Amino acid sequence: MVVIKFGGTSVGSAERIKNLTDIVKAHRDRNPIVVVSAVGGITDKLLAAAAKAYQKREIDTQEIVDNHKQILSDLNLDSNLVDEELKELEEILFVISRIRDQSPKIIDIISSFGERMSAKLVAAYLASIGISSQSFNAYDIGMITDSNFGAAEPLPEAFDLLNKNLSGLSDLVPIVTGFVAKNEEGQITTLGRGGSDYTAAIIGAAVKAEEIQIWTDVYGMMTANPKIVAEAKSILRISFNEAAELAFFGAKVLHPKTIIPAVKSNIPVTILNSFDPDHEGTTILAEVPVGDSVVRAISLRKDITLFKIKSSRMLLMHGFLAKLFEAFDKNQISVDMIATSEISVSMTFDNKNVDEKLEKIKQELAGIGEIYIEHGKAIISLVGIGLENDLEALNRISSTILNNGIQIHLISKGASEINIGFVIDDKDGEKAVKCLHKEFFE
Ligand code: ADP
Ligand code: ASP
Ligand code: MG
Repeated sequence: MVVIKFGGTSVGSAERIKNLTDIVKAHRDRNPIVVVSAVGGITDKLLAAAAKAYQKREIDTQEIVDNHKQILSDLNLDSNLVDEELKELEEILFVISRIRDQSPKIIDIISSFGERMSAKLVAAYLASIGISSQSFNAYDIGMITDSNFGAAEPLPEAFDLLNKNLSGLSDLVPIVTGFVAKNEEGQITTLGRGGSDYTAAIIGAAVKAEEIQIWTDVYGMMTANPKIVAEAKSILRISFNEAAELAFFGAKVLHPKTIIPAVKSNIPVTILNSFDPDHEGTTILAEVPVGDSVVRAISLRKDITLFKIKSSRMLLMHGFLAKLFEAFDKNQISVDMIATSEISVSMTFDNKNVDEKLEKIKQELAGIGEIYIEHGKAIISLVGIGLENDLEALNRISSTILNNGIQIHLISKGASEINIGFVIDDKDGEKAVKCLHKEFFE
């Protein structure tokens, strides 16, 4: 069995859906299970519609309706195919506008409609050209998660259930919704933005697939984001560890959690370009040979906050770090990077929704040290096997950054030995990626 996941651009129009069916056909004898994202841009539009319903009490689904109706018409499919979902969407938006709710729970319901509609579209098109196919909402075939709305995790029993429900379907091509799930109470949850990759990996592990294919709009995992560096090259093979670091530190091409189920079951993950299906893309494997350059790739993560706490008494204070981490843990901020010196600790985390939490943390830590908070930062991460101990490479990295007039606020060598990261100003992010790429790859 092979799990084939198509991202938003790969299901973004009638033409893209036709192209996708050619890819599915080419794997017909490998019992493909197809996982789809929402039509490109629809999740953002759903979230914007929810915000409008909440803020202005207006129900506006026009663009979402038009996008789907256009694709249905271009594919000569029944124009009412997704009417049920569109009607339910309006009802929930109405509820949002009346009760003024925008909790993660209701937002998950809203964002689920994209995948629920795209799976129906793709299955109907495959059936219309004579390929026996059926769409499934992942939660109807066993994708059960915890109740962490917006970033839910599969429960252990999900794997058996998915396997049981998907194994008996070899006479048709199942088209499964990415991203969406339900908790044990039957409430809709989502796996987080970009989570369809994770769905594909969970399903791949569940059915013990021979391969998980992630079809996207670029040539696999590349030496840098090709939207920032035109000269970025595709990486033929990369290790699970390197790919996980890159994904975590901003290479959006893969959802950071995707690697976990694949590693556990040792299933290769391949990232391919649906615009050029013959290109070999990137294969992510347990072990791969070291490349020509010690740096495998460079990633950029923006919108980072830098937190510093200084205390001259710190070294002598028993339990200082424990207190510090407890405050972050209690307020549910997950720390990405950390550096300590004798008198200070610096940490970084994502900017989103942290202001209120930071106020609480400041109060909780008042008295143990001086706190400095700086928003508008970015993390540059370089990943490569052996990078951590390669002094020459480290020297090249820092001199490239400094020679380009970029200020470094924090440097951290990851615990994983394959990553070196540093914090700079957001405004310097793209410039740093470009000059480092030039230094190591051009
Ligand atoms: P999909 O909708 O197929 O899931 P995404 O937009 O989530 O696609 O991810 C693909 C995008 O990831 C690319 O268009 C590219 O701009 C971005 N990206 C960031 N870093 C990298 C990288 N190192 N290699 C490839 N793509 C990258
Ligand atoms: N549609 C969801 C998103 O835009 C999930 C995904 O595309 O993977 O985040
Ligand atoms: Mg994605």
